[in-house]
Amino acid sequence: MLIVKKFGGSSVADKERIFNVANRILEDYKAGHEVVVVLSAQGDTTDDLLEKAKEISASPSKREMDMLLSTGEQQSVALMAMALETLGYPAVSLNAFQVGMTTSSTYGNARLRNIETDRIQAELDRKNIVLITGFQGVNRYDDFTTLGRGGSDTTAVALAAALKADKCEIFTDVDGVYTADPRVVKHARKLAEITYDEMLEFASLGAQVLHNRSVEMAKKYGVELVVLSSLTRAEGTIVKEETKVEKMLVSGVTADKNVARIAVVGLKDEPGKAFELFSLLSKKNINVDIILQSIGREGTKDISFTVGRDNLKEAVQSLEEHKERLDAQRIEVDEHVAKVSLVGAGMASNSGIATKMFEALYDAGINIKMISTSEIKISLLIDEKDANEATIAIHDAFKLSGEL
Ligand code: ASP
Ligand code: MG
Repeated sequence: MLIVKKFGGSSVADKERIFNVANRILEDYKAGHEVVVVLSAQGDTTDDLLEKAKEISASPSKREMDMLLSTGEQQSVALMAMALETLGYPAVSLNAFQVGMTTSSTYGNARLRNIETDRIQAELDRKNIVLITGFQGVNRYDDFTTLGRGGSDTTAVALAAALKADKCEIFTDVDGVYTADPRVVKHARKLAEITYDEMLEFASLGAQVLHNRSVEMAKKYGVELVVLSSLTRAEGTIVKEETKVEKMLVSGVTADKNVARIAVVGLKDEPGKAFELFSLLSKKNINVDIILQSIGREGTKDISFTVGRDNLKEAVQSLEEHKERLDAQRIEVDEHVAKVSLVGAGMASNSGIATKMFEALYDAGINIKMISTSEIKISLLIDEKDANEATIAIHDAFKLSGEL
């Protein structure tokens, strides 16, 4: 069996953890499996490198930034190879250049294009444990690129697809995907299985278990993932196309506090206004999430929508600049909002879910500002201060009825 195992930065943070991981790798190797391991940079290394760059330059070149950041992963794989050799087993570390992992040229947020498997296969044939740097790639100029924060997950899934691995295990410091953040909801339960689509919703809703693009890639190539902890022996969560548990309508609640609401008030109630408004934002690459348009009254209407907080300033600036052209009376901003979402592959065919969610918030006395729904998700915008209480209330409501 060929197994791809990925360990996150906290799993290899120090000497003890490195040997802990080395021993887990050896369990598979000793059982006769071929093992390819993807590693992240140790602990806070990537953050520290970012800091270091800041000390030198306020706006370092993106090429040099990736040259710098890609060293973190290289340290991890070399140290792990040394650990395995110390324990008496053959291992070899490879970076993206040595493997031949090519990406697009966008530094800092490159996309994987192709992975050569020859070198890896040759090393496996020599009975080596193969340790590969996560997060990095090489562009067509033969320069190092990085895949965006958390990108090592994506490296692992891409490798599993390219090598047609039998298993892809992602080890982190949590032991799986939960029905809600266990720090907020005491009764949160670990899910045995979750679908790619549900996981994608979770990932984009702020549950930082897996890199979003790794899930997209897993779905595209049908790579079944297991998310588990490197520190315990607990069974993890399997991420796959379809789960066995057909009757599970909902699989979890998440709260995302990286949200802000913008309201454009008093727009002329005529065709083309939404188009004009959102064109301004898309030109700046600003993602808009929930959108609400009021019923037109006395010739005007309001459009409100949410953006990520990091985009708020730029969005408002752009709208203020074009206020005249948009014919808007004013722009209002609410930064203290949060989005709680209920995710579940089974909710598409069940009409009672939304009602129960609204009831839970009503019972808790929490006001809803905006609502949006999709096939497998219902999101509600509320006050930020109510986020935890809302998460608990919703989780409890569905737990009581046996859904969560
Ligand atoms: N080391 C990189 C980061 O901290 C990539 C990763 O850990 O997945 O974002
Ligand atoms: Mg990660």
